[in-house]
Amino acid sequence: MSSDSSVVSVDDVSVHFTNNGGLLDLFSENETVRAVDGISLDIGENDVVALIGESGCGKSTLGKAIIGAERPTSGTVTFRGQDIWEARDERDPEIPFSEIRRSLQIIHQDPGSALNPNQRLLTSLMLPMKKWYPDLSRERRKEPILALLEKVGLSPAEDFVNRFPHQLSGGEQQRVVLVRSLLSNPDLILADEAISALDVSLRVEMMDLMLELQELFGTSYLFISHDLSNARYLAEKAGGRIAVMYLGRIVEVGPIEQVIENPQHPYTKALKWATPNLYGDEGEEELPVREIDIPDPVDRPSGCHFHPRCPKAREICRTRDPDLITTDDGHGARCYRADESHEYWDSQSIVDDEGELR
Ligand code: SF4
Repeated sequence: MSSDSSVVSVDDVSVHFTNNGGLLDLFSENETVRAVDGISLDIGENDVVALIGESGCGKSTLGKAIIGAERPTSGTVTFRGQDIWEARDERDPEIPFSEIRRSLQIIHQDPGSALNPNQRLLTSLMLPMKKWYPDLSRERRKEPILALLEKVGLSPAEDFVNRFPHQLSGGEQQRVVLVRSLLSNPDLILADEAISALDVSLRVEMMDLMLELQELFGTSYLFISHDLSNARYLAEKAGGRIAVMYLGRIVEVGPIEQVIENPQHPYTKALKWATPNLYGDEGEEELPVREIDIPDPVDRPSGCHFHPRCPKAREICRTRDPDLITTDDGHGARCYRADESHEYWDSQSIVDDEGELR
């Protein structure tokens, strides 16, 4: 997908955090966490991208950078071709920053913290309506709120709008948060572990609802999850893509069926192995990863950052960092094994018969 047709496009974006200046840091070395490290990704109209990876891999930081809530250390994030941070800093941008904020919404993991416990739902839901549609009358602002609450099954809506958040279940609260994010008619919603706190039985219901509303609103989703089966469900139903993150980088990306059925990166294989019944019971019996522990993000391994955990690592992986190799069908992997003619295949394995690094 070219960035011309993209809603949001991130180009070589990095977000680094450095400990410097705090009292506790006075006697220690500055440490830099490369939460996001040189990522490029386009999200188009009506697109669904599921971003998965272990906790701490940088998914949420990337998500925030994509919706303009986290300023990149380097690289650019554009909304319909407009640099988001230039729009914020400039006096007369082509697309005003307020328009970008309206178009890029977020749903967090904990709906309870997203709703003011002291406000009835109507008050909470009226706030974005007042902000984005200041010229409408109160009654006209209330109409889409009631219609959307009915649409997500919170019926009768007239009754629900008078409730406080604690009078709703977790699933009902998350529906309200989804409604609130849609009231601005956004182009992209970042759903950051938005269904993780729900009971398993409610997760599919919520994802189906998100997809139904996507059709109605033409919204794109960036769906962040640590759970491959949820990511697979949403992206597959939407005909979307999956992006796998590891230590601040996308290590595999592509159409869902290709990434799941034909994973190229050993880390994706490990995630798939750890998600039983993803596609039947077939698969490897042995855990396809050497080490369970994630390396320290401050002191990342040399070469391919996955090499200390990789059962397929060879000498070259210890010293050289692979690029993302992408095929014509948009399936990319950051692993030498994705290139059949790479010199990796002539390099010595660094994993012995016991699975230990030599
Ligand atoms: S480049 Fe080497 S270490 Fe990295 S994932 Fe591929 S085989 Fe494993």
